[in-house]
Amino acid sequence: MHSYHEQLQTHALNDLTTRAKSGIITYGSVWLIIAFSYQLHTIYPSFFYLNTGILLGIFLSRITHFFLLKRNSTAQISLMNQWLVLTILIAAAHWGFMTAWIIFDDRLAELRTIILIITPAFAIGGACNLSISSEIRTLYPTLMFIPFIGTLIYQGDTESLMLAILTSICLLYIFTSSKATHNDYWAAITNHMVAEERAELMEKLSTTDPLTQLKNRMFFDAEFAKEWKRCSRLKCPLSLIMIDLDFFKGINDNYGHVFGDECLRRVAATINSKVARPTDCVARYGGEEFVVLLPNTNIKATAMLAQRMIKAVADLELHPNNNDTIHITCSIGGATITPDFKADQGSLIKTADSALYHAKGTGRNRYYSEDLS
Ligand code: GH3
Ligand code: MG
Ligand code: MG
Repeated sequence: MHSYHEQLQTHALNDLTTRAKSGIITYGSVWLIIAFSYQLHTIYPSFFYLNTGILLGIFLSRITHFFLLKRNSTAQISLMNQWLVLTILIAAAHWGFMTAWIIFDDRLAELRTIILIITPAFAIGGACNLSISSEIRTLYPTLMFIPFIGTLIYQGDTESLMLAILTSICLLYIFTSSKATHNDYWAAITNHMVAEERAELMEKLSTTDPLTQLKNRMFFDAEFAKEWKRCSRLKCPLSLIMIDLDFFKGINDNYGHVFGDECLRRVAATINSKVARPTDCVARYGGEEFVVLLPNTNIKATAMLAQRMIKAVADLELHPNNNDTIHITCSIGGATITPDFKADQGSLIKTADSALYHAKGTGRNRYYSEDLS
């Protein structure tokens, strides 16, 4: 089970990867459209091949990251996160330097208008879309704009300086707006996980008996109905045993209810430790009575299990005080049926109940069962 922090990080990494997916396609297609529209591969091959090579490298790194994460989304969270953040920032830095190059190099003068439209759009879109990561939120637009702002300052004319100032203001605006989306994301994901945890806890509380921590009657009733249908469909036996502690009233009367409660907890844990299959259901039926539902278990296997429970309960050493050790016993009634959809579900409980009555009547500390299959 992963810690709360790890779960949050994994969730955020998956979201960041999904959000960053569109960037891979956008960068590649925008670059190819610009490059081929302006015939860059013939008019300026070194510029074309260098940038295409870098973009291809980034593309391959992102694709590899995407498939590795899809294959095993929980391993190496921090490494996978660093990898993704680094490649996204390299992409931003590359685009920033390419923009500066276009502004600086007169051979690329034709591309200036288009790059002045696209770069701010990438910076704003990327910073807000990927604002899950605080590094990306700030460094992504910075790396895109700083080379460009630097080039404008270097050029030094009034128009360039004015453009440098406006771009810097834009950068500050991106910082504040992406901060809001960053905070919104983390508040939402934290609330979502808290709500999920609470729902899990509520579900557990509503199906668990508070004293013994066994499943409660409500859970048992639902499980019984489900297993009845499943065993009817599969035509396999369904067994049920009812366990009642012997002379338990006397324990309460002699040693008090607090000790009585302790006995119930110990007996519950003992009974529960004897069942092995995940489909078996042990529940507190009420008071000092327990019920065990055993799907796909025949009468013989049920009897063996019941006898093991009787012995384990009788062997329990209970200490009402520092000096005394007492033992308690239980009686068990069992019934087995191969159910069908038309049969009455209550018949299995009634039969186990009357078997229990018989076990009590014939001396207690024993098992008696009836076969309805
Ligand atoms: P028998 O062998 O016939 O079953 O005798 P018994 O005394 O066990 O039967 P009875 O049904 O008369 O008494 C059950 C007792 O279980 C009565 C009640 O005080 C006790 N009991 C039921 N629920 C609890 C509980 O949650 N805590 C404690 N301490 N006692 C409980
Ligand atoms: Mg009873
Ligand atoms: Mg009893």
